[in-house]
Amino acid sequence: MLNKRKIKEIIKEAEKIYKKHFKPLTWFERAIFFSWYCSIADCKFCYMSTKKGKVSKLARRRIESMLAELLICKLQQWQLGFISGGHNVFRLFEFKKILQALSSIAQERLWINIGALTKKELEEFRPYLKGVVASIETLNKKIHRFVCPSKPITPFKQMLKSAAELGIKRAMTIIIGLGETEDDFALLKDFIHEHDITKIHIYALNPQKGTIFENKPSPNPLYHAWWIAKTRIAFPKIDIQAGIWLDKVTNVALLLKAGANSLSKFPAIRYFNSQQAKEIEYQAKLAGRKFLGSLTRINKNKLKEYASIAEQLRIMKWFSKYMSRLTRSHAIQ
Ligand code: SF4
Repeated sequence: MLNKRKIKEIIKEAEKIYKKHFKPLTWFERAIFFSWYCSIADCKFCYMSTKKGKVSKLARRRIESMLAELLICKLQQWQLGFISGGHNVFRLFEFKKILQALSSIAQERLWINIGALTKKELEEFRPYLKGVVASIETLNKKIHRFVCPSKPITPFKQMLKSAAELGIKRAMTIIIGLGETEDDFALLKDFIHEHDITKIHIYALNPQKGTIFENKPSPNPLYHAWWIAKTRIAFPKIDIQAGIWLDKVTNVALLLKAGANSLSKFPAIRYFNSQQAKEIEYQAKLAGRKFLGSLTRINKNKLKEYASIAEQLRIMKWFSKYMSRLTRSHAIQ
């Protein structure tokens, strides 16, 4: 059983290890989503499960909108976490075209989190891939069977094996607060070792309306930090991304001290320059980290450059839509 004092000691140790291996920096990573449809739609914590049978397979975003969002990320120096969406939304050639377009405009390869892919699919996507993310959620078998009844772990293991054979980097996601205990950390440690995972997204459960978790509280921030710190101590060089939502921005300093490299899941466009966005940047300072990019100020020096790219791509309408969302929140100062 963990107590506060013990957790704080573990966080201190993790902070030391972080400082030994990384510069005092942090940043925000944004995931670009492509659909509101998922063929699985029964993971018990997921918003999409509340829409099962109500969303058409065609409820996907236009490429213009995704490209415009990507330009906003570049403008604001938000890193691209991964490209994601529901399972089985696109056919292979369609998604390949999307990846090609996004990667070409981003001028970098991308992480993707789109389910358990076959070796053939990985081969097709490889020219545009930085890596592939396995959305494991929890390694506790009993809990996994219950919360993700149609998303078994074995195909993800196979995908990670194929990715290793193809020289593609491997990442994974876990959600803290689904019912696991600290004893399950051993399972995570083994999994990271076995698949040579170099990046992990550690989220704390964000109870969604309409799911069985709706009235459950999010896990204690110290418990979320404990998982990050244990991962940092066991894997000093792994890239750890901590998921935060609007209600978790005051936990940022704690999660960074526990050894997270970056932050994600904050609705950065809708809440640009909001109190919560300001709090994140403040918390980064509290943790002794320089925040790269900005969640509060528009990068006016690069605005012309990215507007001109949007013009060339003929996506000005979408780019302006996102820009007006940023400026509506009194972002230009
Ligand atoms: S597979 Fe992913 S998108 Fe689909 S229901 Fe499960 S968690 Fe949600």
